[in-house]
Amino acid sequence: MPELIKKQMIIDGKQENASSGETYLSINPATEEGFAELPQGSKADAEKAISAARASFDSEKWSSLPAGKRGKILWKVADLIMQNRRELAEFETGETGKPIRETMSIDIPMAADLFRYYAGAATKVHGETIPVNGNFFHYTVREPIGVLGLIVPWNFPMLIAARKIAPALACGNSIVLKPAEISSLTAIRMAELCLEAGVPEGVFNVVSGKGSVVGQVIVDSPLVDGISFTGSTSVGQTIMQGGAGNVKRLSLELGGKSPNIVFVDADIDTAIKMAAAAIFYNKGEVCTAGSRLFVEASIHDEFAEKLSARAAKMLPGDPMDENTRLGPLVSKVQFEQVSEYVKIASEDGATVTAGGEKHDIGSGKGYFYKPTVFTNVNNDMRIAREEIFGPVLSVIKFSDVHDVIQKANDSIYGLAAGIWTRDIKKAHYVAQKINAGTVWINTYNMYDAASPYGGNKMSGFGKESGMESIHEFYTRSKTVWVDLNF
Ligand code: NAP
Ligand code: MG
Repeated sequence: MPELIKKQMIIDGKQENASSGETYLSINPATEEGFAELPQGSKADAEKAISAARASFDSEKWSSLPAGKRGKILWKVADLIMQNRRELAEFETGETGKPIRETMSIDIPMAADLFRYYAGAATKVHGETIPVNGNFFHYTVREPIGVLGLIVPWNFPMLIAARKIAPALACGNSIVLKPAEISSLTAIRMAELCLEAGVPEGVFNVVSGKGSVVGQVIVDSPLVDGISFTGSTSVGQTIMQGGAGNVKRLSLELGGKSPNIVFVDADIDTAIKMAAAAIFYNKGEVCTAGSRLFVEASIHDEFAEKLSARAAKMLPGDPMDENTRLGPLVSKVQFEQVSEYVKIASEDGATVTAGGEKHDIGSGKGYFYKPTVFTNVNNDMRIAREEIFGPVLSVIKFSDVHDVIQKANDSIYGLAAGIWTRDIKKAHYVAQKINAGTVWINTYNMYDAASPYGGNKMSGFGKESGMESIHEFYTRSKTVWVDLNF
């Protein structure tokens, strides 16, 4: 067994063990063996991190720096991320099972890109002068919020954390980051790199441990001014309740059950390839996964057949192998959840046309699951309504534009949607009618540091990325009136 990686939390700029001395193991999902040993943060550790963040914010040592100087430091963080790309990619692959070719080419560089985008954004955060009635000089200024709790999941540990850390720091906030218990290494490493780049001590704290302990303390603390959370809708609801205590500012990016719609006039070969990618990318552990595939009736059978054949060939393998494109599910819990939904789907009368079972890569170990396709699914079945967060696709037939708009919107979620057609008018009409935060036309799962991203309905609220996140969450505006009556 390879040696365990050991990391400490970062509190007030120092590496810290849990005050209790307790640790836990994070598991490599490809081998089911321990990958890293991390501190099991307690209530006291979370409180210490929050106090450090509060003191650093109140001292103004970060927020009072010229924005350009903060920007330069964040640019340096991006450079350090790229210099440490291999190590970060191995951490991410080891804890989550994402293929190394993806962590090297997507997760780590895109995290660096977020730091670069917000490095540049730091100097573009400003208020307005507004003409008002009477003889007044009237203006607004943008200021940081204060101490922000950033709570992130395990599906894109580095990327989702960077999407919150970079704008938070660019605007002068202090932060307490709570990574998912099973994937904390890259979060801790980013805090180390931020210190190295010149972010002052106490501004960026990371506490590892359980959501129900560390996360809950952050949510309940009166010293925390806002929470940006990505994860399940049920924990999002808990956070709304906890945050009510001191009326915290919230940004919630929650679950999804995104419709991906294929019309008869689409480029069918591309649509097949991309429909598979839309659900199976990152083993379906993607909040925007195109998990409900709507196919126009006249092409449904042929499309489903070709897609299933493609899925059957997309077998997962060892994520540390440079040639692997699909890894194991992230954990035993997710493996069991996926297996359970596959059972439910069969009992509900859906037909499995690809996968539907565990995959053995030869070692007999690991949470590998075959990409799975179900046909004969209707929109009322549990596999079409509930977020599975795994490689399980529901294929659903539709008759026309109006039928598919109704079916696509018949969901508690509203995160994203895909539309495949060569008809421009139809594409934009459907894009307008779909209740989702992001719509992709003839593409899917596209992200950019500059592109605002977030959900509707029970997929949450608040936009991330772009300048919109700065206006919506990471700064507030203050109005100033100056009497000019002489
Ligand atoms: P989760 O429970 O919502 O976890 C997300 C983060 O919140 C983790 O850091 C978690 O800590 C923390 N947390 C848990 N309970 C908390 C509480 N009471 N107060 C504050 N923080 C708390 O998600 P999960 O259990 O990892 O996954 C469950 C399901 O959520 C998935 O199957 C999927 O449906 C959905 N999900 C959605 C996304 C998304 O991007 N929208 C991402 C991941 C999961 P721990 O580390 O202790 O869990
Ligand atoms: Mg959970």
